[in-house]
Amino acid sequence: TVSVALFTQDLRLHDNPVLHAAARAADQVVPLFVLDPAVEAAGFGAPNRQAFLADCLADLDESLRRTGARLVVRHGDPAEQAAKVAAETDADSVHVAAGVSAFARRRENRLRERLGGRLHVHDAVLTVLPPGQVTPAGRDHYAVFTPYHRAWQQAPRRSVHGAPRKLSTPDGVGGEALPTATAASPALPPGGESAAREQWRRWDVDAYADLHDALAADGTSRLSPYLHFGCLSAGELAARALERGGEGAEAFVRQLAWRDFHHQLLAARPRAAHHDYRSREDHWHHDEREARAWREGRTGYPIVDAGMRQLAHEGWMHNRARLLTASFLTKTLHHDWRTGAAHFLALLVDGDLANNQLNWQWVAGTGTDTRPNRVLNPLRQADRYDPDGAYVRRWIPELAHLPGPSVHRPWLLAPDYPAPLVAPEDLNTRLRAARSLD
Ligand code: FAD
Repeated sequence: TVSVALFTQDLRLHDNPVLHAAARAADQVVPLFVLDPAVEAAGFGAPNRQAFLADCLADLDESLRRTGARLVVRHGDPAEQAAKVAAETDADSVHVAAGVSAFARRRENRLRERLGGRLHVHDAVLTVLPPGQVTPAGRDHYAVFTPYHRAWQQAPRRSVHGAPRKLSTPDGVGGEALPTATAASPALPPGGESAAREQWRRWDVDAYADLHDALAADGTSRLSPYLHFGCLSAGELAARALERGGEGAEAFVRQLAWRDFHHQLLAARPRAAHHDYRSREDHWHHDEREARAWREGRTGYPIVDAGMRQLAHEGWMHNRARLLTASFLTKTLHHDWRTGAAHFLALLVDGDLANNQLNWQWVAGTGTDTRPNRVLNPLRQADRYDPDGAYVRRWIPELAHLPGPSVHRPWLLAPDYPAPLVAPEDLNTRLRAARSLD
């Protein structure tokens, strides 16, 4: 007997309910990945994520080969290709992870149309808890994190599986060559489950509670790209961290709950990927010169510019920098969050519809922040989260000669640095204007 494991955002062997179920269902498994041109057409196939994906698939194939199986890669519509492979191999079942976005739901519907009862959709593959497992009375999702988090902590979890040791793939299933990397940011992390597990082993979770907001310390896990592509299971990470215990591990698990929170929100409100979750008066203004300076890291505020340059160089940005660059665009310049979210998605290797769009909405005050008028003053953020200026000096070499925190105010000491888009003396007026919007 044969089954098909259709990989999507679960590019791993460890704790993969899709692969686990496919292996239990039949003697042989076809591990299948379909490169879907619709992902590219939708603008989601950005070079950084394509390059990372190429690594992930190569690593997945290598790991599968160690078990005796191999990865089959096809090109086209995933539903059509999965049905074709099932027909070619006489497979009795096709296994896939439940998706969260509208795009993934449509794919699932097409799979069901073609495969009927042979399709098995598995929950809690992409997130710790499946969207909808915990809901407040009378509603289909939580809009506020704190009560969600409380319910999330108490909810039952599925058990964590190890990686399968022995698999086999039927001979003669045709596939295409693995994709190769495209032109990407110069310092992209390596993709794949092996690199992900190595990073998890290397990272010091115990220091996380103290260091997670310190820009220069770079003390966060940097696991987000691996979680986005499913090289690591969020459920396994949560279980491992809870076993370890301590403040750092608890703080880390809380971030995984934020990830689940945004996923349950997007699953319930797919429109929130592009439309205001909580509609506000359309108060955005557009100024291409300002937007370009923001994208290129030339706003004149080094703490903002440093974040934007880290994004261009690594395809990744520290969470504190994401917060303050997004706040600068929406609450200091008063630009539409969609402009910023699109630029992030074009570069972020962890670029994720749920996490990116909903965090942008949270910062812009159109999302689920219970204090939508919160504003972040870039200078105060700089003094607080980069007190010595080391993060700025790392990313802005032309200011590296400025000592200590003076690097945050180049208008005083470095006249060649771009003039601030908003004069420092006007900052408070701008922020007050953002705060007074309903
Ligand atoms: P850690 O601090 O080590 O956290 C562990 C994991 O928890 C992360 O890998 C991530 O999966 C999850 N996580 C942490 N913070 C959040 C959060 N606020 N919301 C949801 N999940 C979280 N994260 C993405 O994965 N993809 C995105 O496209 C994305 N866009 C963002 C855009 C903006 C404007 C903001 C403010 C945040 C965005 N985030 C996004 C959330 C967060 O910034 C990143 O997940 C985090 O910086 C990744 O680094 P890390 O893995 O070292 O995080």
